Amino acid sequence: MAWTRFGKKKDMPGGLWIKCESCGGMLFRKEFEQKHRVCGSCGYHFTLPGRERIALTADPGSFEEMFQPLMPVDRLGFNDKVPYDQKLKLTQEKTGETDALIAGTATIKGIPCMLAVMNFQFLGGSMGMVVGEKVARAAEHAAARKLPLILFACSGGARMHEGAVSLMQMAKTCGALALMHRAGGFSISVMTHPTTGGVTASFASVCDLLLAEPGALIGFAGPRVIATTIKKELPKGFQRSEFLLEKGQIDRIVQRAQMRDELARFLAYGTGRDPVAAFKPAPQATHEPIEVPPAPVEEKPKRGKKSKKE
Ligand SMILES: [Zn+2]
Repeated sequence: MAWTRFGKKKDMPGGLWIKCESCGGMLFRKEFEQKHRVCGSCGYHFTLPGRERIALTADPGSFEEMFQPLMPVDRLGFNDKVPYDQKLKLTQEKTGETDALIAGTATIKGIPCMLAVMNFQFLGGSMGMVVGEKVARAAEHAAARKLPLILFACSGGARMHEGAVSLMQMAKTCGALALMHRAGGFSISVMTHPTTGGVTASFASVCDLLLAEPGALIGFAGPRVIATTIKKELPKGFQRSEFLLEKGQIDRIVQRAQMRDELARFLAYGTGRDPVAAFKPAPQATHEPIEVPPAPVEEKPKRGKKSKKE
């Protein structure tokens, strides 16, 4: 295997190769991105950036973003090495996003819906005031327009920088979803790797249909915390989608490559459309990866040692 040549991370040539977090195999970046960040060897589903998720899910050009003016505020003057307001500014510049959730209307195989996608690149997809407010508004908008709602979760949990305000979002998002459901609305939650903490314990778990990507870590507290607390060894596969499916916590595991088709079918069921028609060929979603900020590449000032042929 050639990958043993790249023992150290700094030896990776220009970010061309990516090491699989699961099987350790070396993946050619271009091929890896064409497979929507799924390992070609073991099928491990890497975390997908929010915009890429939208491009993969919605019909081309159908996504119309909403609630963009909502901006996070540092109410507590929280300081953790870098003050929270500075951290927000830096992350906003780096990601080009205002916060960790992108919401709007879209069509999937022609079926109109409300789509909200968490972006792990923004402070670990943590839920603060903006994420919570956008989920709540997405549910309200979906109810008002009688649109089905799809929520893609990908989060490290509540955002500690916002203290109790971030915890309050759990109640708010669940309240908004409950009102939407009472009005006859239909919702789908897709839990992706990782979905943890306050997000699992709120909106991601209270939708009509709970889907998950294969191998996703889904839980409230982390496995190490639980193992230390209960002083017991945890069962194999604990907190992974397959384990949760077996225990009845989620309804279905869907491969990333099939997600769009499956969502279209569920949207058809949920809105009284013909599910067979929803499976007919439709304009393909753009599979081109969205440009994300490249990983920092270490320039090698040393001469003489050539690792790559032109
Ligand atoms: Zn792999």
